[in-house]
Amino acid sequence: MKNTSIFKKKICECTKCINLVKSRSLAVPGYGYPDADILFIGLAPGRYGADKTGKPFTKDASGKIFQTALSLSDMSMEPNGLDQREELLKAYVTNLVKCNPRDEKGNNRYPTSDEVENCLEYLHDELDLINAPVVVPLGKLSTEHVTGRKCKKLSSLHNVPIRMEKFWCVPFLHPSYVARGAYSRETYFDDFRSLSKFVRDNK
Ligand code: SF4
Repeated sequence: MKNTSIFKKKICECTKCINLVKSRSLAVPGYGYPDADILFIGLAPGRYGADKTGKPFTKDASGKIFQTALSLSDMSMEPNGLDQREELLKAYVTNLVKCNPRDEKGNNRYPTSDEVENCLEYLHDELDLINAPVVVPLGKLSTEHVTGRKCKKLSSLHNVPIRMEKFWCVPFLHPSYVARGAYSRETYFDDFRSLSKFVRDNK
């Protein structure tokens, strides 16, 4: 059985980013099945969601869309929950940066490049240990770090599989983009259904 507790402890005790240690309520490691079929990578914990709950993509607007998309496409990230049916795909969900970045007004902001750099070792730990056959970066910054390439327009890469050395990378638009109405919810849910089929065909 894979043991995620070693890097979870390191993340929870991490104080590398002075500003984020001040703004976060808690550091948020990834969550889900250690032997996942699919690994999602968001940007950072949101102030109304993961920064309060300690679980990526829960409670806030992005989390609600993400959770609905998972459930409609037969994926689960609840290894200890009720959803343990055999046919469900196992998901693991994490963020590029594990602490909530806020601006001077207390709103979510993008992490700085130094903050991303500081946190990358934890993402690499997660990628290595989980070793999922399909990795889905959510949003532009996560896609750039997973693929190692600059990405001008994420919409042109959305839901297009890219073969990497150890896994398939399937970039996706971030749920916050959908939450603010820039992309149709129904189409996004359909995209998750096609992603689910892709994982089943490639796991
Ligand atoms: S964002 Fe990452 S590197 Fe920075 S303090 Fe949080 S856990 Fe540490």
